[in-house]
Amino acid sequence: RQEQYARLRDRPAVTVDGERIKLSINAGLLVDLPHLEDAGADGIGLFRTELQFMIASAFPRMGEQVEHYSAVLDAANGRPVVFRSLDIGADKVLPYLRQAKEENPALGWRAIRMALDRPALMKLQLRALLKAAGGRDLWVMFPMVAEVDEFRRARELIEEERLFLERRGHRLPSSIRAGAMLEVPSLLWQLDQLLPLVDFVSIGSNDLVQFLFASDRDHPRLAGRYDPLSPTVLRAIRHVVDMGRRHDVPVNLCGEMAGRPLEAMALIGLGLRSISMTPAAIGPIKAMIMKLHAGEVAGALAPLLETAEHSIRPQLMAFAREHDV
Ligand code: PEP
Ligand code: MG
Repeated sequence: RQEQYARLRDRPAVTVDGERIKLSINAGLLVDLPHLEDAGADGIGLFRTELQFMIASAFPRMGEQVEHYSAVLDAANGRPVVFRSLDIGADKVLPYLRQAKEENPALGWRAIRMALDRPALMKLQLRALLKAAGGRDLWVMFPMVAEVDEFRRARELIEEERLFLERRGHRLPSSIRAGAMLEVPSLLWQLDQLLPLVDFVSIGSNDLVQFLFASDRDHPRLAGRYDPLSPTVLRAIRHVVDMGRRHDVPVNLCGEMAGRPLEAMALIGLGLRSISMTPAAIGPIKAMIMKLHAGEVAGALAPLLETAEHSIRPQLMAFAREHDV
């Protein structure tokens, strides 16, 4: 198996019917970076910047942040890296940041909510990203966006920092793209308003599933209770893919489901052409894609999405078996 994946490394992920699928890795620490080469990935679809903050004993200073982000961009060697701004709160805790205890931390003061209320931290981070990406392309995305105005305000902060650096004669990125993570269900119904303002979106299916089912993603009693391969979740994702196409905005998915072959097969059937996953999954997912006929899985999926099943996993497994995927 490992050998087979190594042989696929330098080949692009293309389905039997010629659909090119972009496969990126999720990363967050410098030790993750060699995987980009090893796996033959197209880029980093989700760089979780909070990991550097979570393993530090105090807020990383500007210089440390710039150094960190530069090292990431160096390692990516021209391939796109999507930096997610700090996603703190709920399951992501900073030991040195005193936070009031919350009744419902997953629904609490976290991620972009915190960043917009106390912008100093995010402005520092954005400045560090802009500096690190001088002369290169910069991709930034914001976590937990729940309404259009939050994205608009976050994007304004990028512009403020860009102007600040420009006035001081700093070398700026050759391009700046800003995107929103789609992981709060409210955003599903604001896509006509949101998509004209973003350069891309990335579906965070871990949180999206948690919030769609109102089911804690880390609760042991609830693990497996709801299935991402339910018509509910898949229809939500299809809606985003369709709207992205209508507005000509690239859509990626960076939740854990992208790294599981059956789930990835369904995502391609929904029309996704860019997915991002844990590095170890790239080989198996690429092998699956090279045996898959995207049009056929789309055809098989369409009627299943109209059902009221708990999960369409069995039907998708039967499809995979019958078509030798
Ligand atoms: C997600 O929510 O799907 C996601 C990719 O982000 P995280 O797992 O870091 O919350
Ligand atoms: Mg998330």
